[in-house]
Amino acid sequence: MTSNDAYLTFLGTGTSVGVPVIGCICEVCKSSDPHNNRTRASLFINTPEVKILIDSGPDLREQALRENITSIDAVLYTHSHLDHVVGFDELRAFCWEKKDPLPLYASELCLNVLINMFSWAFQTDNTNSGYIKPDPRPITKAFTLGDLTINPIPVIHGTVDTHGYRFDTQDGFSFAYLPDVKIIPEESMELLVNLDLLIIDSLRTAPHSTHLSLSEALAIAETLAPKRTVLTHISHELDHATLVASLTKNISPAYDGLSITLA
Ligand SMILES: [Zn+2]
Ligand SMILES: [Zn+2]
Ligand SMILES: [Zn+2]
Repeated sequence: MTSNDAYLTFLGTGTSVGVPVIGCICEVCKSSDPHNNRTRASLFINTPEVKILIDSGPDLREQALRENITSIDAVLYTHSHLDHVVGFDELRAFCWEKKDPLPLYASELCLNVLINMFSWAFQTDNTNSGYIKPDPRPITKAFTLGDLTINPIPVIHGTVDTHGYRFDTQDGFSFAYLPDVKIIPEESMELLVNLDLLIIDSLRTAPHSTHLSLSEALAIAETLAPKRTVLTHISHELDHATLVASLTKNISPAYDGLSITLA
């Protein structure tokens, strides 16, 4: 893939503690299958006109080096849980070559958390050329970045204000990214019709209070009927190969480094 292609790459596909889990000796954590190595959930989108990072988790540096991501035009945040924001400081490297500040798209509540956590970056006296220069942009409705139309999708994920995103290319390819969700309200389901690709939270087999289980994710996929479904934000309770074998052809688990052409 080159920067002139339209594609997305999964930077991370793991739940908040990553896989393997520190100290765990389960079969998935001890697996030799690299598909079972899951860094914290994040996505990179590349089109001929724009490069977008979704979330800046604790593994951002390692992920950007692994995928040779050298520049980004904007960051979109899903929510303020630490596994999605705490790599914020690594965004410095993407600001050094930029003339303008780095646009950060997030809900007002999520931006407020970022401003509280990383207050030094948002202060008007942040003039050190080595620091991140953020340009906070609160999201409320659909917006455009380069050749992508982007719709924020409000979802329920415990008590934290959370969004997924729907992207539509000018060529008519549509995909949605919902890595952290327990319930998709009816109004949001209506924003997710006619998708070519649905990327959705699938934590584990057993139910969880703030994340979709595998069967819940599959039920949503069945209702929305996208052409393809890819599962992400996966814990150490799901083995990649076992999951692949158990799913139908148009549904598969994501893995770190998986790239999908937007066509
Ligand atoms: Zn998460
Ligand atoms: Zn484990
Ligand atoms: Zn979360």
